[in-house]
Amino acid sequence: MDRRLFLKTLATTLAIPTLLPIDVEAETGTGRWLNLVRPQSGERLSVIYKRNGQLDIAGYRKVCALMRDVKADQASVIDLRLLDILDGIRAALVQSGVKNPTFMVHSAFRTWQTNREVGGVLNSYHLKGQAIDFHVHNVPTDVLFKWMQQVKFHQGVGMGYYAGTPNWMHLDSRQVGRTVIWEG
Ligand SMILES: [Zn+2]
Repeated sequence: MDRRLFLKTLATTLAIPTLLPIDVEAETGTGRWLNLVRPQSGERLSVIYKRNGQLDIAGYRKVCALMRDVKADQASVIDLRLLDILDGIRAALVQSGVKNPTFMVHSAFRTWQTNREVGGVLNSYHLKGQAIDFHVHNVPTDVLFKWMQQVKFHQGVGMGYYAGTPNWMHLDSRQVGRTVIWEG
């Protein structure tokens, strides 16, 4: 299938409401896992961070290391609910026909200093390890963002879409009981 046809098919597939919602509570047979790439540093990671509801400490540490503040070279604890949401998105994308969905991580945990340098808000969820700026390899971010707006997350999330280059979206696990959506 050529790329244009693939993207067109994907956009159509993602609009099918029966694929919703993303089930962040469910764990697939092999456990919860993520494919992560850090374009800034060239790192790649394919790892299981939870099996049968139990944290896989070694895997989780690798995720936290990859999602560190690359500029300051400082890692922190990354919110497990954020990771479970990403795993839910991954699983739903697999159902939608995307092979091996890979999250391209532009920013995750941020130190105070880095957050200030990039113009992040003072109470940014990035400071708490509860946010990620990303796109999914081979999936148009505007399509992904529209699709995610139809999803009913059990608790609140924040999500923002930023057009341009690179084309990416922000997602955070704010848990305020409502979902906040913006475009910038
Ligand atoms: Zn962000």
